[in-house]
Amino acid sequence: MFLDLDCELCRLCHERTKVVAPSGDLASPVVFVGEAPGEKEDLSGKPFVGRAGRMLDRLLEEEGLPRDSIMITNTVKCRPPGNRRPKADEVLACRLYLEDDLRGKQLIVCMGRTACEGLLNNQVVMRDCANQTFTIALGRERIDLVPTYHPSAALRNLEAREGLRRTIRLVKERFPEL
Ligand code: SF4
Repeated sequence: MFLDLDCELCRLCHERTKVVAPSGDLASPVVFVGEAPGEKEDLSGKPFVGRAGRMLDRLLEEEGLPRDSIMITNTVKCRPPGNRRPKADEVLACRLYLEDDLRGKQLIVCMGRTACEGLLNNQVVMRDCANQTFTIALGRERIDLVPTYHPSAALRNLEAREGLRRTIRLVKERFPEL
């Protein structure tokens, strides 16, 4: 991991407290990718530790997929002010770190529109594409990618919660050793 914890490659460096590095098993074949750190993540430097993180933890636990057996990261590593969506140039600036996170993985689980659109280079309607398998190219690598709902949507919406649950179940079926 070559993430620069003092990175100033985009404007998000001005208001962040901490750059949020990936967590979990960095050598796992599976990586879950979210949008951006929120307030709790910004303060702690750890991804998915706020309310959305607790929802993700709950679904992982209920489906028997240990959080420490997967890698968890975000599309951008610094908190956007007011939790707004990251802008396209911020996503682009942070892309080198995300690609570093993804290298060598067998499956990318993209949680939410920002993560999906950043990696599929296309607009997505989650209801139409959740839990389908796509393949993306990363240099010479071909990596499977499954879009799914963001845990913050799962907090508000039962369809999103069950969609994310189904994704975790698919991961567990494909990687029973995790
Ligand atoms: S969001 Fe990414 S590119 Fe922008 S300052 Fe943070 S680490 Fe650097």
